[in-house]
Amino acid sequence: MRNGNEETLDPDDWEATRALAHRIVDEAVDYLARVRERPVWAPMPEEVRASFQTSLPEGPTPLATVYRNYRETVAAYPMGNIHPRFWGWYMGASNFTGALGDFLAAVEGSNLGGGTTGATQVEQQVIEWLKEIVGFPKSASGTLTSGGSMANLVAHTVIRNLAAGYDVRGEGIAGVEKPLRFYASDQVHSCHQKALETLGLGAKALVEIASDDRQRMRLDALQAAIAADRASGLQPACVIGTAGTTNTGAIDDLSAIADLCEREGLWFHVDGCIGGVLRLAPDHAHLVNGIERAGSVAIDPHKWLHAPFEAGSVLIKDAQAHFDTFEMHGPYLQLQERGMAAGKFLADYGLELTRGFRALKIWMAFKEQGAAKFGRLITRDIALARYMAAQVEAHPLLELFAPVDLNIVCFRHVAADEDAAKFLNTEIMLRLQERGLAVISDTTVQGRHGLRCAFNNHRTRRADIDGLLADVLCIAEEIKTEHASQRAHLADGPAP
Ligand SMILES: *Cc1c(COP(=O)(O)O)cnc(C)c1O
Repeated sequence: MRNGNEETLDPDDWEATRALAHRIVDEAVDYLARVRERPVWAPMPEEVRASFQTSLPEGPTPLATVYRNYRETVAAYPMGNIHPRFWGWYMGASNFTGALGDFLAAVEGSNLGGGTTGATQVEQQVIEWLKEIVGFPKSASGTLTSGGSMANLVAHTVIRNLAAGYDVRGEGIAGVEKPLRFYASDQVHSCHQKALETLGLGAKALVEIASDDRQRMRLDALQAAIAADRASGLQPACVIGTAGTTNTGAIDDLSAIADLCEREGLWFHVDGCIGGVLRLAPDHAHLVNGIERAGSVAIDPHKWLHAPFEAGSVLIKDAQAHFDTFEMHGPYLQLQERGMAAGKFLADYGLELTRGFRALKIWMAFKEQGAAKFGRLITRDIALARYMAAQVEAHPLLELFAPVDLNIVCFRHVAADEDAAKFLNTEIMLRLQERGLAVISDTTVQGRHGLRCAFNNHRTRRADIDGLLADVLCIAEEIKTEHASQRAHLADGPAP
């Protein structure tokens, strides 16, 4: 079957394309099924890096060649976050159904800015489900975003506009009489500062409140900061509670913050990018008691729900305030009573007009797996973190340097002093990565530096943790031996 003479982007030969697409799917399934057999990460050789320096391709290349090129230079050098031994920073491990969802969304091709389509129904249903998860009423609104940073930005825009008490959309932030203040613990994610900077409020609008020895916001310090700011003519607007900090997984006392916000007349926002879905796990749901009392919650489905990147979301209880913040229609984009452009326009709830169909991958995975399974996987990640913490505590050469309250383990190999610990542990981390054994990252908690494992990986087993700790101890030995021989060498005088 050939198209007519007119050019399109469709294949010239649908049957050949079908055969190639089948092969791509077959190889994708193999790639995923054998993920455990590959190194977690591999450094990219110079010649592969150089292959990305060629200029804009003027003419065509057969798709099969482009695909082979992708396999050799891209798929061979992934981040590794789908690997069972990836625990660095805070990712998600993706899932194949979600990948199929992204593929189907791209084939179907709808623009989720709005319109009466199956796709907009799917996104609205996903928002309803997320509202159910956090315990928000049906009257709340919400939107899917690229990720948590964007979700928090959307919430802060709504909060700023309400708190300012005048027409910020028309007048701009320069019209503010009393500078606004947002409060969060000193463990708050950096995206909040970025958001407030972007909103013209300045980094100083984010007041960081000291956290306690379990990295939770200190409520006495919060209360004092609000009182001091009021006394000096500033306007407290919002308290950001974190349900699962990125650094250590700490969960602020959300109920107490909700009480305080009610007393003080402040907006209560929850950054639930990590723990916003904890209510799916019945045995841990109590950790986020009070989340349902928030005015807004940010959730990151590409983290603990393992949606392929990108998928974030924000839920806002005051649907009218949400709409009033972003509603905007050019003359070329008018809503109608009937037809394609009828109904709720999803772009009226965020910054983007053209929006991708990111809801499908979440919708398909929830339907296929059931919400209860996501809850069980969350419970298992927390159990893995506790298992690792117990192994670390039982070993004389390893120590925890932060409490393990959720799914993040901050640990390190012991050393003579802080400097030596930093050198040794950083070196261990880099060798683990470079040898493709595991990807973990590092952090500092209350002045102490060390390694950090975030368990949000549905492929990890206990044996992977045993393997990691064995590798850590083995590499530490190796580094110590190298240093001992270097010292011996120096003692012998300068090298020849
Ligand atoms: C990851 C994270 C964010 C940022 O989300 P992105 O999806 O990376 O933009 C914000 N807050 C917390 C607590 C996070 O863990």
